[in-house]
Amino acid sequence: MPVETTWDVIVVGAGNAAMCAALSAAEQGAKVLVLEKATREDRGGNSTFTAGGFRFCHDGVEDLRTDILDDMTPGEYDSIGNLPTLSEEQFMEILMRITEHQADEDLGRILIGQSRETMRWMRSHKIRFIPMFGRQSFKIDGKHHFYGGVNIEAVGGGWGLVDMLMQAADRMGIEVLYETGMRELLQDEKGAVTGVRAFGPDGYVNFSAKAVVLACGGFESNPEMRVRYLGPGWELCRVRGTQHNTGDGINAALKIGARPHGGWSSCHAVQWDISAPPYGDRVVLDNFQKHSYPIGVVVNLNGERFIDEGADYRNHTYAKYGKEVMKQPQRTAIQIFDEKTHSMVRDEYRIREVTRATSNTIEELAEKLDINVEGLRQTIDAFNAACQPGEYNPSVLDGVATRGLAVPKSNWALPIDQGPFHGYVVTCGITFTFGGLKIDTEGRVQDLTDKPIPGLYAAGELVGGIFFQNYPGGTGLLNGSVFGRLAGKNAGQRAVG
Ligand SMILES: Cc1cc2nc3c(=O)[nH]c(=O)nc-3n(C[C@H](O)[C@H](O)[C@H](O)COP(=O)(O)OP(=O)(O)OC[C@H]3O[C@@H](n4cnc5c(N)ncnc54)[C@H](O)[C@@H]3O)c2cc1C
Repeated sequence: MPVETTWDVIVVGAGNAAMCAALSAAEQGAKVLVLEKATREDRGGNSTFTAGGFRFCHDGVEDLRTDILDDMTPGEYDSIGNLPTLSEEQFMEILMRITEHQADEDLGRILIGQSRETMRWMRSHKIRFIPMFGRQSFKIDGKHHFYGGVNIEAVGGGWGLVDMLMQAADRMGIEVLYETGMRELLQDEKGAVTGVRAFGPDGYVNFSAKAVVLACGGFESNPEMRVRYLGPGWELCRVRGTQHNTGDGINAALKIGARPHGGWSSCHAVQWDISAPPYGDRVVLDNFQKHSYPIGVVVNLNGERFIDEGADYRNHTYAKYGKEVMKQPQRTAIQIFDEKTHSMVRDEYRIREVTRATSNTIEELAEKLDINVEGLRQTIDAFNAACQPGEYNPSVLDGVATRGLAVPKSNWALPIDQGPFHGYVVTCGITFTFGGLKIDTEGRVQDLTDKPIPGLYAAGELVGGIFFQNYPGGTGLLNGSVFGRLAGKNAGQRAVG
């Protein structure tokens, strides 16, 4: 335990949102303590498990080269054929469309409007970025053509991001206390938050502070809360990331009268290898995900298709399709590719820990993977018959669609007719929950009368109101960075001002 138990700002959690909040508070001159429930080895929360991909506004590679990608090599630069720009209008349109127009527009405007400046700020703290060559581009005539809006990642992915944030925190003199989980928020008689009660290696400790920033994740790792809010059966999904995000920050704030906000019955969930462990694996990381379904077809154990695999770019559909897999028999689905597209699947399909089968015929593949043989045969025949001629291009919405199917495939619809055929078995992996606390545009947690709770701020996954039903890829980290920076700045100013 530190000798000091009185601080200017306490930040709860040590993921991306928390560390951005801590850096920002320290920039205001505040003495900052970060409390992290996990061990040092398990630090970084879900942020460690990520690819480190960020979605933010920019004007293309020339623009990015001036500040965010300033240490890209000439060879890397020359290998880029196209890296599409992302304007504030485009980003806002995507956010609103994907969240079924439920996203809080004020928070959305901050998220998007401050996205570029926040990336620049992270870079000023020596966080390094590179283009996502491996996962977010297709090679055409030897050059990388990027797509889908998430084209930049932290060097070293999530691990790299967390390590660089921790180094930045060290440079700013921020103290991090591991194995110390917040249990309660402390208040004075007027209702202002005055610190936290935490449980550490030596038992309970009260830490006093002039401001507290909650950034300790959602409730995705709490099966009881999942069932309560997402519905029956959700205790059975896999968790893609940390086991420590059990809703502690949300529960502690609700207990002192914070307002619940956002999409409490929905979450970010993906297609995830059926043999993956209950919680994230810190070596395999996000490679259990199987995200090349737009260039194949997805069936259930009856052999039936149930999603439009080509409805949009992967980055705009992957976060909602895990929930569709949850509804299928035995929460199981099988992604099928034929030889034409199999060579294009993402690297995550080539790991050792993969549940797959290959066969020269569709019938044999069905037998190997326990799919209803006749059902799959009929589905593939109908799908192939519905495919139309067109100019196939996996890096754009090519409009090569099926015609006449109850479940269409709207882009990239090539017949599954060239063996060998490859099947990958997936289930649902939850990433994070969408319901959380209500904050205002200064990052202050709101109470049940829509007034700020003095001294209490929040950022990251535990804030509600930004994502509903679905989520635009690469926005989780950005969300933590933008609102972490904002909450940390205002908490720091309250503390030292
Ligand atoms: C496999 C995977 C891949 C992903 N890929 C991407 C990607 O490429 N791009 C992207 O934008 N998003 C991605 N995401 C989503 C992204 O991880 C989250 O949106 C983001 O990391 C959330 O950041 P956070 O700081 O709010 O939470 P976290 O990073 O989860 O941090 C929360 C921290 O709080 C700690 N904590 C919990 N309870 C307590 C307590 N009581 N006291 C103290 N500490 C506590 C936890 O241990 C944890 O360290 C991915 C998620 C997963 C799981």
